[in-house]
Amino acid sequence: DRIPSKGFAVDSAEGHFHPYEFTRHAIGDNDILIETMYAGICHSDLHAAWDEHQSHGIAGIYPMVPGHEIAGRVVKVGKNVTNFKVGDYAGVGCMVNSCGHCTFCEMDKEQFCENGTTFTYNSIDRYHDNEPAMGGYSNNIVVSEAFAIKIPENADMKRVAPLLCAGVTTWSPIHFSKVKKGDNVAVAGYGGLGHMAVQYLVALGADVTIFDITEEKRADAFRMGAKRYVNVNNAEDMKGHNNSFDFIISTIPANYSPLVYARMLKYGKGEMAIVGLPETATVNVADLALGGAANRKIYGSLIGGIKETQEMIDYSVAHHIYPEVEIINAEAAEIDKAYRNVQDGKVKFRYVIDMSTLK
Ligand code: NDP
Ligand code: ZN
Repeated sequence: DRIPSKGFAVDSAEGHFHPYEFTRHAIGDNDILIETMYAGICHSDLHAAWDEHQSHGIAGIYPMVPGHEIAGRVVKVGKNVTNFKVGDYAGVGCMVNSCGHCTFCEMDKEQFCENGTTFTYNSIDRYHDNEPAMGGYSNNIVVSEAFAIKIPENADMKRVAPLLCAGVTTWSPIHFSKVKKGDNVAVAGYGGLGHMAVQYLVALGADVTIFDITEEKRADAFRMGAKRYVNVNNAEDMKGHNNSFDFIISTIPANYSPLVYARMLKYGKGEMAIVGLPETATVNVADLALGGAANRKIYGSLIGGIKETQEMIDYSVAHHIYPEVEIINAEAAEIDKAYRNVQDGKVKFRYVIDMSTLK
């Protein structure tokens, strides 16, 4: 039997959120039904809802129910489920299915499944009759237990949801680049993702510099343990960083020059992970050689696999590393307002929708 669900959708890139009722696929033998308690608002939700990935060959699928930072409680389990029982806390991040047997699935990198990852929304679910997947701004979700994350009983549920995307997206490259104690590192873009990166890097014992475009977050930066805060719009502040960082993570969601940061990497050693997904931000490849960034390594990074998402959740809860959140009610107008504020840089640091307030 299909599962009735209700939440919020947009109907076009210009649309506003409105209440939306729909159904989800039935609970298969390996699936669980999660009642959503909290859903985070990621900047990726704005890019998707506003159809800003056309230049990357990704078109918005409408009506769209965004949301890939989902935390809730298990209310039903399929008969072959072994990892979850009714009453457990569970989370869902950016993906809900993959083939399970290709090279990347075997490597626990389901986000690169050669046969097609089903993302949590704005994605065609090839494992369920090609219906469009619907995300977390809704009162429930049905997901294979293989794609559900166990949230420890002692987790702070109000704050845990953003870890499912912002947490793992920053955790993954920090570990891919093997950042260690004493490294000189930088975080460009100090928002939802950026403030998670800062916390993981500080916890590792790295020396953290933050780059952002506002003065409003300078005090927050030091409170979170950063050593330096650079206002990118201040030319004096921007001087003297070239050839100095072992690792940089860029979460910038708007147009910028990645080359500026590539030059800041240590010669022969530094690595830059790009996770921000602006519609247009380009590097002239010849500039990598000629523009002062030769022999630095730059790579893109996409969320993280299910295994590392579980590792990140367990670590974060055990070390009390959480996002700083502003909780909003589950109302269409509130979500619209939150989107404007994220776009305008007016959130510290992540909006989370309290789905229990859904009317
Ligand atoms: P936020 O809007 O919360 O944070 C972005 C931050 O970047 C803000 O603090 C913003 O400043 C700052 N910023 C904007 N322009 C600049 C600039 N030119 N230089 C320095 N800082 C700047 O977004 P999220 O953290 O939620 O997401 C960031 C990006 O990461 C998005 O593009 C999102 O789609 C992408 N993403 C990628 C994933 C992946 O797997 N690769 C997964 C999840 C998200 P201010 O607040 O002042 O506006
Ligand atoms: Zn996200």
